Order: sequence, then structure tokens, then C-alpha cells
Amino acid sequence: MAEEILILGGGFAGLAAGVALAEAGRRVRLLEQSQHWGGRARSFRDAVTGMALDNGQHVLLGCYHRTLRFLDTLGTLERIRFQPRMTLHFMERGGRLSVVRCRNLPAPWHLFAGVLASDAFSWREKREVLRLGRSLQRRAGTSLDGDEPPLAKMTVAEWLQCLGQSDRVRRNFWDLLCIAAMNEDPDIATADIFARVLSRALFQSSADSRIGIPAAGLSDCYAEAAASFLVAHGGVVELGKSVAGLRVQGDQATGVYLAGGKILEATKIISAVPWYGLLRWLPPSLAAHHFFGGIAKLKPAPIVSVYCWFDRPITHLDFVGLRGTTFQWLFNKNKILAESALGASDPKLFLVSLVLSGAHAHLHRTREDLAGTAVREVGEVFPEARAARLVRSLVLKEPLATFSPAPGVEALRPACRTPLHGFYLAGDWTATGLPATIEGAVESGYTAADAVLQEA
Ligand SMILES: Cc1cc2nc3c(=O)[nH]c(=O)nc-3n(C[C@H](O)[C@H](O)[C@H](O)COP(=O)(O)OP(=O)(O)OC[C@H]3O[C@@H](n4cnc5c(N)ncnc54)[C@H](O)[C@@H]3O)c2cc1C
Repeated sequence: MAEEILILGGGFAGLAAGVALAEAGRRVRLLEQSQHWGGRARSFRDAVTGMALDNGQHVLLGCYHRTLRFLDTLGTLERIRFQPRMTLHFMERGGRLSVVRCRNLPAPWHLFAGVLASDAFSWREKREVLRLGRSLQRRAGTSLDGDEPPLAKMTVAEWLQCLGQSDRVRRNFWDLLCIAAMNEDPDIATADIFARVLSRALFQSSADSRIGIPAAGLSDCYAEAAASFLVAHGGVVELGKSVAGLRVQGDQATGVYLAGGKILEATKIISAVPWYGLLRWLPPSLAAHHFFGGIAKLKPAPIVSVYCWFDRPITHLDFVGLRGTTFQWLFNKNKILAESALGASDPKLFLVSLVLSGAHAHLHRTREDLAGTAVREVGEVFPEARAARLVRSLVLKEPLATFSPAPGVEALRPACRTPLHGFYLAGDWTATGLPATIEGAVESGYTAADAVLQEA
């Protein structure tokens, strides 16, 4: 019988690796330390309403090709509600609404025509946005990293300045996209990864630019289905199993030590735990190896989310970019969930979630303070909210949401194949070239599965 492959970590990366191996007919054992699947992209049952709430709002893009394939394999793709074409609404204090709506044209004209017709920019700003678009197009087909000056050494803010983007177009458009895609402020985030994201999302095809929102709790969108898929394909999945060490003999991985001391033998092991988790149990001799040397230098970037239940609707839009406020995006959970049988929302209350990415400066604030800012900003931006009564709020802090993608970060991210035989790395933080995203995690999982299969 073929040897069992051990996967550590039950987030997107570990589950995708497991599903890819199971599809290839391999036996998988997946260990997850917590009592739930999904890692940093999961839902939980809200004690008050009974609703499935996510640990933070997640959005997908049409260019998440690996993720779409993964969800299709699981049969859950229809739980992500994709826009027919990319449409972005923006609101600002006082209630001014503007929109960028891509057109039904081949890329990049779908975007260019949408920007030209948009009321979100002045004519001067439209020219600036198109200038950046043309610059990205010129780079297409060439290595972004080979450019002069090298994007890997610049922040997004420096890059935008080089491309003649005014403060206003930065603040009202690019900064909102950067913080959403990178979970980091444009003054901190690296230009090379952002340019790659823009190229993939905006300049390949109209379908790639679409935004997809889970119409059910995240766990219902993939995590439970992936665990069931593994079991149905002869695999073993175990919650509450924490790995405490790696067993190494010579230059070969031979198993893991579980918390409690038990040894699980395996000669093919995929670690799909976050970088800060790996550092806890990687043997010191390996941690000192230059291959693993960058991991300890990765820094986290936090996300704060606030759920607010109002006694009446405050917007008819699905989601909105907020201009000039602390919170950057607002999602209309009632509208999103109402269209799904799995998302059951309370029709008497109106639920929105607000997202504050790259939240370094806000992590220390109390939950009451953060909820207060969220509610005040909702009132300033949405005129309908002024008459609404806040029934309840829930603040979620994810201090270790993603790694911080600062310039130079690519050199710190290790590849999938390690110098230790039989030991592979996956996770959104590994060298995918993408920011810490669902797509990066899934891609890393598939890459690790491919590496194992090639050496089998
Ligand atoms: C609030 C928030 C909002 C986000 N929004 C978006 C978004 O809109 N779009 C997007 O694409 N991405 C978004 N992301 C990022 C996305 O969630 C992550 O990139 C992705 O979930 C990472 O998956 P992963 O499998 O690499 O890691 P994880 O999800 O962290 O999975 C790793 C798993 O390993 C387990 N583990 C750790 N140590 C051990 C151990 N010793 N033994 C066994 N198991 C262990 C953990 O418990 C965890 O379940 C967001 C993240 C957060 C937190």
C-alpha cells in the first residue's frame, strides 16, 4: 500500500494540498491543532444570533484560478457570489456615492472604459489612472522584478508617486485597493507584489477582475467540504492534534512529535502551518540553516473587523469602499447572506461588517472604542444610518492576520522544497509571489502536492 502523506495544518493551504493528493490517489493524514478547520479563514457560530460569522470578511477575485479549481473540486464554488463584471462603489463623508464599473470589453479596455465613464475621478485623475494602467501593460510579459528602479525595493507609495499619481487619486483609489489586497499601508507595502496583483486582477481578462463574496460562512464554503472529501478518499483528518516537533534522521524527515510526546512516522511531510507556528517546533539545527533563515524576520500585519447590527437598513449596496475614514471597506452582510440558504441572517436586524486592514495603530484600542469609531463613521458616510439604532456590535481582532509585505519580503519567503528530504512547506507566507491571500495559500498547497508526487 502507498505510504501515507502527513499534512500539518488545516487551513486553505493544508486542505488544498490534501485534496490535490487525494485526487491523485494518495493516502493523506491531516493534523490540525485547533478544534476547527479553516485556520485564518473560518466561520464560527455567533452565540447571540446563531449565525455563522467569519473571523473577518474575505473576498475572492476572478483571478484566483487555483482557488476556483479547488472549490469546484469540492462542489462549493456556487457558494461564492461573483459579480458579472467588476464594480466598485465608493462612499465618502456626507454620503457622496461614486462607482467604477468595468465594461463588457476585452482586457484592458473593460477597465479603461470603466474608469473613463466613472464619476469616482476628475478628468485629471482619470488620466493618472490610465497612465498607471499603461505602465503596467508595458511591463506585461517582462519580469516586474527586472525593472529599473527595482520595484522590490520600493514601497507602493513611492511607486505611485513615480507614476505621477496625485495624493487625491492615491487616497481615494489606489490606497484602498492596496490595503485590501496587501493588508498593509501603501507607505509600508512593497511595490513588486502590488504591481503583480494589479496585473493579475485588472489586466488579464474581465472575468479575472470580478469580485467574489462568500454567500455563506467560510467554513461552509470550503473547510468542512474539504475535510469530508479527504475522508471520502480514504484519508484521515484529525482535529485537536498539535505538532510539537519534527523527527529528523540524517538529512531525511522521518516523522513528527505530537504534543504529549507520541511519534507519528512519515517520510513525506507537508507543513502548512503559519510561519510563526513553524518556528515553534522546527529543530534548532534546521532553523539555523540559511534556507529557513528568513522566516524569523517575517513580521505580522493585523486586521480588525467590526460587525454592527442595526434596527433598519443603512445601504442597498453589497459592499463599499469608504473614502477618508479609519475603516476602509463595509460589507452588507444581510444582502449578501439573504440570497443564500446557508447564510441565514436575521431579517429583522440589518448586519454590516467593517474592515480595518493593516491595523497596526489600532490593535491596542479597546473593543468599545473601535466599535464607537465604526458606528460613528457609518453615520457620517451613510445618511440612512443616522436614524438607525445600533442593536449590537462585535469586534474581532486578528493580530497575526497576514505577514507584512514590506520591501525585501520576497527574499525572506522560503520555497516549497526544503533541504531536508521529505519535508515540504506550504502556506500563504511561502514563496508564491502573491500577498498573503486565499489564492496564495491554495497555490502553495497545490505546489507542495506536486512536489510530493514528483518525488513519489
Ligand atoms: C481577518 C482576515 C481577513 C482576510 N481577508 C482576506 C481576503 O479578503 N482575501 C484573501 O484572499 N485573503 C484574506 N485573508 C488571508 C487568508 O485568510 C489567508 O491568507 C489564508 O487563510 C491562509 O491560509 P493558510 O492555510 O496558509 O494558513 P492558516 O489559515 O493559518 O492555516 C494554518 C493552520 O495550521 C494550524 N496549525 C498551526 N500550528 C500547528 C501545529 N503545531 N500543529 C497542527 N496544526 C497547526 C492552525 O491552527 C491553522 O488552522 C484574510 C485573513 C484574515 C485573518
